[in-house]
Amino acid sequence: MRKNIVAGNWKMNTTLQEGLELAKGLDAALKGKAINCDVVIGTPFTHLASIAAAIDTNKIGVAAENCADKNSGAYTGEVSAAMVASTGAKYVILGHSERRAYYNETAEILKEKVLLALANGLTPIFCIGEVLEEREAGKHFEVVDAQIAGSLFDLSAEDFGKLVLAYEPVWAIGTGKTATADQAQEIHAHIRQTIAGKYGQTVADDCSILYGGSCNASNAKELFANPDVDGGLIGGASLAVDKFMPIIEAF
Ligand code: PGA
Repeated sequence: MRKNIVAGNWKMNTTLQEGLELAKGLDAALKGKAINCDVVIGTPFTHLASIAAAIDTNKIGVAAENCADKNSGAYTGEVSAAMVASTGAKYVILGHSERRAYYNETAEILKEKVLLALANGLTPIFCIGEVLEEREAGKHFEVVDAQIAGSLFDLSAEDFGKLVLAYEPVWAIGTGKTATADQAQEIHAHIRQTIAGKYGQTVADDCSILYGGSCNASNAKELFANPDVDGGLIGGASLAVDKFMPIIEAF
């Protein structure tokens, strides 16, 4: 069954103390509220265990923002999917455009990360999306198709069914420039068709595809009203409870 999901991506923001305050504040704000989506917060590695211990992780899922492409061993500074899972986190954001662009994450590397995340019981939130020049050249459909096929199409249908996808046009991330509801619907429907072509309609229909890129309280309702937009991956607006709550409540 397809789920509606609103996931925060804190990126490299908040000290541990600030992060704990934010997570506890969100937990308190959600108390007693009837919410029509799953809520996830993506936090820095350093915060995962403390936050998972401080909140009800059945109500707010905790996500890492990355994991290593290796299981364990002599990889100084890396954090494995097993380590992430051992903190109580249930999700991991993978393939974010910032990691692809600044940390050279290739389709091959991401393929390994997805496999390790799944092997350790984590739900990957796998990000795809085109840069502005690709959108302007009309190549956005082929770009997302290649990102999906390049990292995910060796998975079995069963494993693919465990993923969440996030379409994030790079030109909309942190820019205040959101894709229109029509642009989002058009490409989300295309992504679902691509999945159906490989795994069949049921797997495609069950896949949650989130939109990310300057999603906020004023545009979330319109974006989420689209039949193929199943929620959001929220950066800036997830860093304050009063900005994040209205997005959760947009469902
Ligand atoms: P933004 O970031 O909401 O600040 O645009 C979204 C993301 O990068 O996941």
